[in-house]
Amino acid sequence: MISRRRLIQQISALPLMGGLMSFDLAGASRLILPDATIPTARNYFQELGVRTFINAAGTYTSMTGSLMADEVKQAYMRTSEDFVDIDELQDKVGQRIASLLGCEAATVTSGAASAITLGTAGVLTGTDPEKAAKLPHLAGTGMKTEVIMQRKHYIEYAHAIENCGVKIVYVDTKEELKRAINKNTAMYYFVNFLNYEGQIQWDGVLEVCRQYNIPTMIDCAADVPPVENLSKYTDMGFDMVCFSGGKGLRGPQSAGVLLGKKKYIDAARVSAPPRGNTIGRGMKVNKEEIIAMMVAIESYLKRDHEKDWALWESQVNHIKNSIGDIPGLEAKIDVPVLANVVPTLNLSWNTQQVKISGDRLKEEMRKGHPSIEIAGGGKNSVSITTWMLKPGQERIVASRLSEILHQKSI
Ligand SMILES: *Cc1c(COP(=O)(O)O)cnc(C)c1O
Repeated sequence: MISRRRLIQQISALPLMGGLMSFDLAGASRLILPDATIPTARNYFQELGVRTFINAAGTYTSMTGSLMADEVKQAYMRTSEDFVDIDELQDKVGQRIASLLGCEAATVTSGAASAITLGTAGVLTGTDPEKAAKLPHLAGTGMKTEVIMQRKHYIEYAHAIENCGVKIVYVDTKEELKRAINKNTAMYYFVNFLNYEGQIQWDGVLEVCRQYNIPTMIDCAADVPPVENLSKYTDMGFDMVCFSGGKGLRGPQSAGVLLGKKKYIDAARVSAPPRGNTIGRGMKVNKEEIIAMMVAIESYLKRDHEKDWALWESQVNHIKNSIGDIPGLEAKIDVPVLANVVPTLNLSWNTQQVKISGDRLKEEMRKGHPSIEIAGGGKNSVSITTWMLKPGQERIVASRLSEILHQKSI
């Protein structure tokens, strides 16, 4: 129960305290639940001397991902007031998410990487808790030991699969894929944004895996927008689909979802908290993140995506136009075909004419007030997105960028 002292502190912080004093304590504690959208007076980052910045880079984990939508923040605060059974909550939230997205089943994980680990674990163990307790040690257990992926699909996050103790078998062609499949093959792992890099595309992989009865997982971590993708890959026939919660969905950065066939989601849950003797025990999501993830999906489905797009595009155009013509500088607005599908301003230049490296330009943007983060870097290029900007911040990004580039150009 809320302490009397704290209650009085909270009440005295309210503008209209008169009427509240007559409520009983429990009622009052509900009434004065803080509105998560109103920041408290304390600025924790300032107190600690932690730099905050304008994010013109994108949804990077190192930059804390995205900012949660207001509705999501409110859901987070509201749910912190009660106790619930975590498995019951996961069951019901999973059903709600699955019905919203039109797939068989879903579960909230602690990010796309955890969805990959838990999904892989489930394929290995089925719903047998004794097997789950053995991971990542597979030898002598009778569990399968190999996961296949294309060499061209290699990404660091494949480590999330190896956490389960399996070995990754790399292939390039469809023929190699067929030959690689054997009695130890547990699963096939596909990285959506690398579809066009590999020689075997979505349907090729699905066809072979269906033929040999191999479960398929697709990593779609950064693949919203577009909103349709939330249903596209389960509809296409992938058994498991992994999304980040804290990128385009603007849910909690420490959450994600695993969508797919009920049989695999049920099996993945065996390795998920609260069960302690599992590989997933450190991948905890509590009620706040679970509900906030659900609300983020609801809220994302309701958004006016065309309006979002128009805003991002106008912001990116504003930045491009503010820089104007600089000899030796090329400014192009592109939209990636897969992953981070948002208007992206790509700047590249001849360093004889614009005398600054990409890395140095990033550093100059970072060192200014306010600090600004942009993406890319290296010798002579940077890239900028506007989807993580608050409206109006594009003006600050534009004038700072333009100032530096003009200073450095001959
Ligand atoms: C971001 C990302 C991940 C990891 O997602 P988290 O939600 O941060 O765990 C995995 N795969 C790809 C392709 C990603 O872009």
